[in-house]
Amino acid sequence: MNKNITLVPVGIVESELLSWLARRLFEVLAQKVVIAEKLPLPSAGYDRRCQQYQGAALRAMLSKRSIVGAERVVGVIGADCYAPGLNFIFGQARMGGREAIVALPRLHQSFDNQPEDTALFRARLLKEVVHELGHTWGLSHCADPQCVMHFSNTLHDTDVKGVDFCERCQFRLAISKKLAKSDCASRTPQADWAEPTAVVRSPWMNP
Ligand SMILES: [Zn+2]
Ligand SMILES: [Zn+2]
Repeated sequence: MNKNITLVPVGIVESELLSWLARRLFEVLAQKVVIAEKLPLPSAGYDRRCQQYQGAALRAMLSKRSIVGAERVVGVIGADCYAPGLNFIFGQARMGGREAIVALPRLHQSFDNQPEDTALFRARLLKEVVHELGHTWGLSHCADPQCVMHFSNTLHDTDVKGVDFCERCQFRLAISKKLAKSDCASRTPQADWAEPTAVVRSPWMNP
């Protein structure tokens, strides 16, 4: 049965962080969470000039892997990521897709030369993972700033929102999961685009 959420560390990711994330995800989603073996960062999708990885290339790498029992696969990326037209992304997922990614570096306070705050970093990571999983379960962005599906344009938005789905999103999630279990799933329209969590225009693309 494909029931679990599998976390795949890509690049340098602390095992203790993954264990913490798995525990908290289980508490929030009440779904089994498994940690897979670490994968190296791929050469495909690497932008040498910006030292960033393209989110779609990382998701494609994960999509090629057969992971037993995985209903969803979350790549926890130990490197900065971007998408075409966006100078960075916190995470990325495809509506209805199996794979999502979350990039770690920019979730650290120290990335912006501020004193590191481990609790804050972990809270951000948990919210971003739940958010991207929400997209894979068919949820779009929510207007409620407290809801985990609220769009994070900046980390401030991430810090304001909670880790839980609002009532409306919970309702949608329940319907989406029910449909996925029924024969209707194949008739459910699925958007075929990758939705970044953060949208910031690249300065070098806007001279
Ligand atoms: Zn909501
Ligand atoms: Zn989103």
